Amino acid sequence: MSGEGFDRETALSLLADENRVRIIEELGDATVSPDTGIPSVPYAELKSRVGIRDSGRFNYHLTKLLGNYVAKGEAGYRLRWPGMVLYRALVAGLLTGETDHDIGPVPVGVDCYRCGEPVEGDLYETLFRVRCSACDANYADIYVPTRGLVGKAPEAMLETVHRRSRTVLDAMTSGQCPWCADEVALEVRAGDGSLPSLHDTRDLDAYAVYRCTNCTGFHYLPVSQVLLYHPAAIAFYHAHGRDLTAVPKWELEWAVTDRTTEMLSTDPWRFRVRVPLDGAALVAELDHHLEVVESRTEPAEGAPHSRG
Ligand SMILES: [Zn+2]
Ligand SMILES: [Zn+2]
Repeated sequence: MSGEGFDRETALSLLADENRVRIIEELGDATVSPDTGIPSVPYAELKSRVGIRDSGRFNYHLTKLLGNYVAKGEAGYRLRWPGMVLYRALVAGLLTGETDHDIGPVPVGVDCYRCGEPVEGDLYETLFRVRCSACDANYADIYVPTRGLVGKAPEAMLETVHRRSRTVLDAMTSGQCPWCADEVALEVRAGDGSLPSLHDTRDLDAYAVYRCTNCTGFHYLPVSQVLLYHPAAIAFYHAHGRDLTAVPKWELEWAVTDRTTEMLSTDPWRFRVRVPLDGAALVAELDHHLEVVESRTEPAEGAPHSRG
C-alpha cells in the first residue's frame, strides 16, 4: 500500500475520471455480502468487472487510487474507508440529486395543530417536510437521500422520514454532528415571531438551535422536542406499553408545538414540559442546556399510583 491517504486536492482530482469511479463502484458492489466481511477482489476479476481491456490503462487508473481509496493485499484489492464513503454516497444518490424521482405530497394522518387543516409530507428540493400547506406550519424538515423514498408507499416513506429524523436529531441533541462527528453547539433562543425557516409559521415562545461547529449541520426545534431522545420520556411511554421511538414526532403535539411547555425563567432558561399519555402525564423540567433536571409522573385520573 502506498502512503496513507492523500491531501484533499489530490483526493478530489483523482475522481475526475469515469474509469476510476467505475473501479470504486465495482469494488463497492463486491463488498455487499455481510457474510464475508470486506472481500478482496483479485486483479483479473476486477479488471473484467470494470471492463477495461487494456492492461496498461487499467493499471494506470488502479494505481492512482491506491493508498487512499483502494488497498492492495495478497488476495487482491478492496475499498479503504474513503472509497467506501464515496461508494455509499454514489449508491445513495447523494452526489447526483436524482431529479427524476416522482414523490408527490402524501397525507400523514394528522391535522395541523395551528389551523386544523390536514398535514402533508412533501419533498422540497432535497428536504422532506411534514407541513401544513394551508398555514405553513412545519412539523418536520429533514434531509433524506431520495434512495430511501423512491418506490415506497406513503406509510413506508413516512416511516423512513421518521427514522431518518430520529437518527439525525438523536445525534445532534446528544452533541455530535451526524454528518461530520464534530461537536454540536446548543443555543436556546426566544421566539420573536419568526423562526429560522421561512417555511415555518409556528409561533414558539422559545426554541432550540443545534449547530455543528464544523460543517453546516443545523436544526432547530421546540425545546420540548429534546424529550423524544431522553430516557425519562422513553421510559414513561414504555411503562404505558408504548414505544416512543416508534412514534413520528408530527403525531405528538407536545413535541412539535410549545402548547404543553411552560417557560419558568429566561435567564437562565428553564422550562417545564408536560407530556400527556393515556390520561397520565410526565412532567419534566429542563435547564438551559435542555437537560432534564427534574421529572415526575402524574397517574391517570381514577388510577392513582398506577403506571398503566
Ligand atoms: Zn396549518
Ligand atoms: Zn458537522
